Amino acid sequence: MSAKLILGTEIREEILEEITAEVSQIKAKYGKVPGLVTILVGENPASISYVTLKIQTAHRVGFHEVQDSQPIDISEEDLLALIAKYNKDDSINGILVQLPLPKHIDEKKVLNAIDPDKDVDGFHPVNVGRLMIGGDEVKFPPCTPAGIQEMIIRAGVKTSGAEVVVVGRSNIVGKPIANMMLQKGKGANATVTIVHTGTKDLAFHCKRADILIVAAGVPDLVKPEWIKPGACVIDVGVNRVGEKISEKTGKKIAILKGDVDFEAAKEIAGSITPVPGGVGPMTITMLMLNTLKSLKFKLGIN
Ligand code: NAP
Repeated sequence: MSAKLILGTEIREEILEEITAEVSQIKAKYGKVPGLVTILVGENPASISYVTLKIQTAHRVGFHEVQDSQPIDISEEDLLALIAKYNKDDSINGILVQLPLPKHIDEKKVLNAIDPDKDVDGFHPVNVGRLMIGGDEVKFPPCTPAGIQEMIIRAGVKTSGAEVVVVGRSNIVGKPIANMMLQKGKGANATVTIVHTGTKDLAFHCKRADILIVAAGVPDLVKPEWIKPGACVIDVGVNRVGEKISEKTGKKIAILKGDVDFEAAKEIAGSITPVPGGVGPMTITMLMLNTLKSLKFKLGIN
């Protein structure tokens, strides 16, 4: 039997429509829309395309969006001054600095200079701490883990009391999603195990998972026989394994593969995310949600 597909492409559309509707209600009542600034240093083509997608999505949902492009040789001091300017700017609710930054700039120093109440990426230590505490303390959950949790909720997967196994312990995916799934509350209240390269028997842990979240960056790491029949499998991995010519555009595009052997796994899992089209589209969507939340916090509405 084939698993139910959990499609980020579809869930994204639902959420963006909800955000658009809420933005127009807030605009009508308070005369304000969420403001998002994206700071891009240099002309890295991948960074330009990420920033463009973020700005296009912000525009689509009715945000005030600013793309601030800076030369590759901007000094650290000037970049910090720019962040200070946006920290004070009342029309801006979310500040994003597109990474990577050039080598002469201390990335950590720059990210930590963002006002935690405008840190819609959720990477500032203050927001990491808030996430750890959980409950009402949480302001901006990091976007990829927030997207994963939202997919699990919208797919109707039961999380309370579930065994969740997270493969990977990065600061941007593994650790935060594990932390989110163990909190009390909606889409959580699970028993969580994190596995990594130091884990003795990866297969043993994966086999116990009612919900298996894989964020390792290793193509086909998870074998079909590691999946518990009926489990929910969330494949976060995006691995470039080659190139092909797009049927739509005739241009060269990357062939992407997840961390799970999808074709075999979908015959065993109860529900599963594909790659591409699964978790990927959720990250920018949740960034929009965090920016909307930032304005709502400021206006004191929930
Ligand atoms: P990362 O920082 O490289 O972390 C990978 C984690 O997986 C590490 O904790 C590593 O363990 C663990 N790992 C690697 N190989 C393993 C193995 N053979 N057995 C057990 N554990 C293993 O990666 P990341 O930033 O979390 O990203 C993970 C994947 O998700 C990548 O493919 C990335 O492209 C993708 N991703 C997708 C999105 C999206 O779709 N929006 C967003 C973020 C990331 P150690 O700590 O022991 O080294």
